[in-house]
Amino acid sequence: MKKNYLLFSVFGMLFLNAQNGQGFYQPSNSDCLSPQQRELIQEQINLNRESLRAQNKLQEDKTLAHPLFIWPVKKNPNTKYNNVWSISNHVDHNSAYPNKVQDWNCGARTYDTADGYNHMGIDIFTWPFGWYMMDNDQAHAIAAADGIIIGKDNGNYDRNCSFGNGDWNAVYIQHGDGSVSWYGHLKNNSLTSKGVGSFVSAGEYLGVVGSSGNSTGPHLHFEVYNNNNQLVDTYSGSCNTWSSSTDSWWASQKPYVDPKINGIFTHSDTAVFDNGCGTQETTNFKDSFNTGEKVMVYMYFADLPVGKSINLKLIRPDNTIAYNNTFNNSNFYYASYWYFTFQSSQFNQYGNWKASVTVDSETVTHDFVYGANMNVADSKVSKKFSVINPIMNNQLQIISKANFALDKTKMEIFSQDGKLIESKKIELKQGQNLIDVKLQKSQNYILKISDGTENEIFKVTN
Ligand SMILES: [Zn+2]
Repeated sequence: MKKNYLLFSVFGMLFLNAQNGQGFYQPSNSDCLSPQQRELIQEQINLNRESLRAQNKLQEDKTLAHPLFIWPVKKNPNTKYNNVWSISNHVDHNSAYPNKVQDWNCGARTYDTADGYNHMGIDIFTWPFGWYMMDNDQAHAIAAADGIIIGKDNGNYDRNCSFGNGDWNAVYIQHGDGSVSWYGHLKNNSLTSKGVGSFVSAGEYLGVVGSSGNSTGPHLHFEVYNNNNQLVDTYSGSCNTWSSSTDSWWASQKPYVDPKINGIFTHSDTAVFDNGCGTQETTNFKDSFNTGEKVMVYMYFADLPVGKSINLKLIRPDNTIAYNNTFNNSNFYYASYWYFTFQSSQFNQYGNWKASVTVDSETVTHDFVYGANMNVADSKVSKKFSVINPIMNNQLQIISKANFALDKTKMEIFSQDGKLIESKKIELKQGQNLIDVKLQKSQNYILKISDGTENEIFKVTN
């Protein structure tokens, strides 16, 4: 499999104290079924249909209009992603080959192969971190319309990265008018527990997007046949030669270029997008940072046009803006990212921070904690001070390893959301020191002790 990654880096200057970079992911031609595989699937589906009809479990009314589909990929409701997919390939309407392609919009977002295969469906790939998403069930294939399950394939290896890799895992559904939709490359053993002959409603879970069969990476291949068993391109467009240009099969047809914010996340270090075929990426996701640590903020996009304005903000726990930067996207890719690295000096409040990205009218926000995740154990390994937790009778007990003079030593107490509650100069003598504080009962606080050269941070409860 050939995956293309490129990283552009522009350091310093433009973005003050944030290093930044940009890159993209371009999935290669992502699947095909061999003619033999497709024929076997058709045969199996037809046998199942005959059997179901004989049992009165399947009817079709060919006079009905074809279904109007909803999008067949849905994010797991528990995911932190805003959107989980982009499109790599549409149906190829140019029957010549190789490298003679045309999609429904007269573009080249499709592919063919040297042995005469013209892509017969839509490839919807997961982004970013397709293997991570597959391992964590982040992207679901769902029924695009009501129907009856007329076939299921399961038990096949699901971490492929090239063609020639055997059979896929898939679900096949017949709709009321007799048309059929295919959902291929699913994760092994992730398929709906409903059997052949069961009814599924539009939006119902079918399986996890995976990479079984001839597949170069996790994606859903969505393929549709009308009730005369003719292949359908579900999009209406001037280069869809198979149906009238106004006859879309979508309830709400998505635009050809469909900009999406797939997510904004915080990371401890550079994200590693390619660890080799079938191996989970090194996401380096991190949502809770200790004092002194850098924070890498990555924004992930699908289909973002050139020149599109992107706004990134860092928002402090007290809702003031710590960083605000608007810049323009410089290249078009099906899947891309921008990242910024913020050093600890950026984080001058402790508590719950937000990173938010805005494109057009859409804002996506990611929550993370800075400096507030120190535990009591941490305080015991500190170099100069330790703090007895919890605070008793509004008296803070600080054990100091040396004497620290009043003119240099300062104590600050912050609430969990980063608001400064109390700030005063203190004198610390070697040994135990009792400091009066006025704090609410049963609340957690962040205590910062500074000796003029270094800070030490503690989490304390009153
Ligand atoms: Zn495909």
